[in-house]
Amino acid sequence: MVTHSPPPPLLLVDLDHTLVEREGGPDAWTPTFCTTHGLPAEAAPTVFTLFRADRSPAGFARIAAHYGLPHTGADLWEEHVAHEAARTHPLPGVPEALAALRAAGWPIAVVTNGCTDIQRAKLTRTGLLPAVDAVVVSEEAGTRKPDPAIFHLAAARLGRTLTPADWMVGNNPATDLRGAHATGLRSIWITPTPTPPPPPTHPTPTHTAPDTPTAAALLLDTHPETQSGPRLTSP
Ligand SMILES: [Mg+2]
Repeated sequence: MVTHSPPPPLLLVDLDHTLVEREGGPDAWTPTFCTTHGLPAEAAPTVFTLFRADRSPAGFARIAAHYGLPHTGADLWEEHVAHEAARTHPLPGVPEALAALRAAGWPIAVVTNGCTDIQRAKLTRTGLLPAVDAVVVSEEAGTRKPDPAIFHLAAARLGRTLTPADWMVGNNPATDLRGAHATGLRSIWITPTPTPPPPPTHPTPTHTAPDTPTAAALLLDTHPETQSGPRLTSP
């Protein structure tokens, strides 16, 4: 008799500060923007204030109107997306960790809060998009972590429904850990060592790890049945 092994657990994983890191702060693009468009350096704070009020092509249309720039909001938004992606890189060992998990049969979905264009551009630019099976970005999903709906959507995009055997890995207690707990998932909190205690208002993770490659090794150790990938067994 041939029996199927249980399917491997799902891995839902955060993007920023978990798989990738961005150089510079949230306003680090504004000096380049001013230089590119012939604005004085002192305009940078105002550009950023206008941007923060509306992070979209419409927001950049307002910036263009404010400074009389001969560009559409869509063009400036595209430039911004490319700039944000260009200053984003994979964290050390992340491509190899994702490859090891997938080789062991783990379906992987990125679950991230943010703008769809920017988050997807980061994944493309860093080469991580082909390393995962699904991507859910809060803007296009219409829901954000820690809402369980976004985790269920990620599982649906993997063709599965969530079970308590599935995992969420991320660095943010307020979104990743709280969401995992609310959804009934196991969790790994990516946090520097020595590990500070989670804030008392947040749930305790199943495990902690200093980085995603360590978390991946932990997952593979926790689920030795996945080490050689999904398989058929013949007793
Ligand atoms: Mg994060």
